[in-house]
Amino acid sequence: MTWEPLVVALPPWVAGAAPAGTALPPDERMGLVLELARRNVAEGTGGPFAAAVFESASGRLVAPGVNVVVPSAVPVAHAEIVALGIAGRARGSYDLGADTELVTSTEPCTMCFGACLWSGIGTLVTGATTADAEAVGFDEGPKPPDWAGELRRRGMIVVTGRRREEAAAVLAAYAAAGGPIYNGRSGGPGAPDRSMIPSPGGSHA
Ligand SMILES: [Zn+2]
Repeated sequence: MTWEPLVVALPPWVAGAAPAGTALPPDERMGLVLELARRNVAEGTGGPFAAAVFESASGRLVAPGVNVVVPSAVPVAHAEIVALGIAGRARGSYDLGADTELVTSTEPCTMCFGACLWSGIGTLVTGATTADAEAVGFDEGPKPPDWAGELRRRGMIVVTGRRREEAAAVLAAYAAAGGPIYNGRSGGPGAPDRSMIPSPGGSHA
């Protein structure tokens, strides 16, 4: 037998919502990302999280990303991971370069915090806060308390709270509509019964 390849594909609607050739000024980039997050829920293709990599100066869209953890059956397919991964493929390098900017609808979780460092991006812009995500039951994991400071100390420009209220409303609407707050401990086919293990909630995705 051969092992499965790692395939993380964007839902087909993303190509229309975030077409190649898109270029946006700084204050419009979060707007596109929030639209992708809302649409991902409406289309039933994943969780209420989106991200995108842009060239900082020109605003050219390098790669969009939405959360596809559930449809792809890839536990690490958070929006930031998807955007950074596709951006690397588009640029032909694992190092995206200091001229790139990751815009994400919610502050990165523990995993995506690390991915920001390993991607080589120069700028990170976030919308909803960790508190906003946790307020509706998602778990961001054990991030350093001063996670933004850790990134800044390594030379990254970090801007938090961009259109925060609008970004938080996307999460709240998802939760209010009964969207699943999935998490690695919620079990899947054949999962052991871990119901006795206390869980702080679902994983941010
Ligand atoms: Zn994440």
